[in-house]
Amino acid sequence: MSAPQDSLDHAHFMRLAMREAEKARGGTGDNPWVGCVIVDAHGAILGRGHTHGPGEDHAEIDAAREAAAEGRSIEGATLYSTLEPCAFHGRTPACAHAIVARKIARVVIALRDPHPRVDGAGVRILREGGVDVVEAVLEDDVRRQLAAWILVQHPHEAHAWAKGSGLADEALDAAWLERYGGPRPR
Ligand SMILES: [Zn+2]
Repeated sequence: MSAPQDSLDHAHFMRLAMREAEKARGGTGDNPWVGCVIVDAHGAILGRGHTHGPGEDHAEIDAAREAAAEGRSIEGATLYSTLEPCAFHGRTPACAHAIVARKIARVVIALRDPHPRVDGAGVRILREGGVDVVEAVLEDDVRRQLAAWILVQHPHEAHAWAKGSGLADEALDAAWLERYGGPRPR
C-alpha cells in the first residue's frame, strides 16, 4: 500500500483528535485519555472516537466503530491518534494490529506511548503491515495534554528526559513547565 497523495493538514486533524481526547479525560481509569479521528483523502471525517474505561474500546477502535455504524469504509483512510496505537494484547486486543487488519493507509500520531511494552512497537507493527506512519505532529501539545497520565503511570519518561536534558535547578524547572505544563515536583 503506498502513501496517499493528498494535502491533508495534519495539525488541523490532530487538533480535532485532541478535542476528542478531552471527552475521555477522567473516564479512562489508568489508561491515557486518547482521541482519534479517521478521515478520507479529501479530509471528510469518517469516524471520531476516544478511549473508554479499562477493558473497553481504545480511541482508534471507537472511531472505527463509528465509521462502521455509519456505513463508511475506512480502507485507505488516514487515522489521527494523539497517542501511538498500542502494540500488545492487554485488556483489549492490540490497536496496531486492528488498524493493519482494517487496511488503514496512514496513521498520524503526536506522541509515542511511553508504556515500556509499546514505545515504538506500535509504530513498528504498523510499518511492517504496510501502513505509512507520520510521527510527532503537535507532539508538545499532546504531551502536555497527557502530562498527568505520563507523570503518574510512566514517571520513568520524565526521569529519563530530565536526566538526559543535562539541566538543573531553575533551568530544569522552566523546561519541565514547558514540557509538562505544570511545576516540577520537589
Ligand atoms: Zn489500543
